[in-house]
Amino acid sequence: MKTAFLGLGNMGRPMALNLHKSGLEVVGFDLATSCLELAREAGLQCADSAREAARGAGCIISMLPASAHVEALYLGEQGLMAELPSNTLVIDCSTIAPDSARKVANEAQRRGLVFLDAPVSGGTAGAAAGSLSFMAGGTAEAFERARPWLEKMGANLFHAGASGAGQVAKMCNNMLLAVLMIGTSEALTLGQAHGLDPAVLSEIMTRSSGNNWALEKYNPVPGVMANVPAAKAYAGGFASELMLKDLGLAQEAAAALKASIPLGSLARNLYAAHGLAGHSKLDFSSIIKLFQEPPHES
Ligand code: NAD
Repeated sequence: MKTAFLGLGNMGRPMALNLHKSGLEVVGFDLATSCLELAREAGLQCADSAREAARGAGCIISMLPASAHVEALYLGEQGLMAELPSNTLVIDCSTIAPDSARKVANEAQRRGLVFLDAPVSGGTAGAAAGSLSFMAGGTAEAFERARPWLEKMGANLFHAGASGAGQVAKMCNNMLLAVLMIGTSEALTLGQAHGLDPAVLSEIMTRSSGNNWALEKYNPVPGVMANVPAAKAYAGGFASELMLKDLGLAQEAAAALKASIPLGSLARNLYAAHGLAGHSKLDFSSIIKLFQEPPHES
């Protein structure tokens, strides 16, 4: 059965390639020609439009930046859903607002399609390794139907609940991740300013009660770990502007219920300041720059 993969950016490209390598017929598409070229170079068959990629596909997977992109792709008379045969499986892996996911799910139901919101965690390394965590929202039947595709891209599959529940889980996870990355950055910068080798301090804290995912898998100090964005001047990875988007989703969700998220709010403000300082395209671990002295001018 043909699979269409829409959105071949930092995450979508390695995810689509894993499906392709598993033997599935995959046709990809991205609005950016640079992404199409990279995907074709890596061996993925690509189409010139989302419609062409989706033609004849029994499963559509999307991995787009934000709610507006997902709604623009699927909804409305010009949207892709209007053209899909009934019973087509649609899996959206983008991180978007829970309400937006429910809106798309309702439209899918109206048109007789099967829709799952299935955002992911694990970063670009997890996408490349096929070890992502999927947190899905939708019916149990939709989750089971999507399982063969999710298993080829991830190692941990969770059915969080009804439509939108996957996005709620992802929003909570990323709010915590932002707080952990900021805290890890603060601690490493303080230790370094007091003369500690950041690699030694990282090793100590990784084996002590300060351990967390950012420290263990995604160290923000250049030179401590290979193959993380910090080792590549914060290129690739998870853009700070996408983390700011996710923290905005948490902010909206908290406001809707008058919930208190003081650390999430501070994290959103710090990522907003980081973006205003010109770092929005850099990986989110570059937030450490907020705490470091700027390089001395010679
Ligand atoms: P990205 O910006 O690298 O890729 C998104 C791609 O979608 C872009 O190449 C863009 O051109 C394309 N696109 C937009 N509209 C499109 C359309 N209508 N049709 C086809 N392509 C379209 O972003 P990313 O880092 O790959 O992240 C994708 C999603 O996954 C985001 O929602 C992000 O929050 C989430 N996410 C990212 C990471 C990470 O580590 N990068 C981890 C977990 C979740």
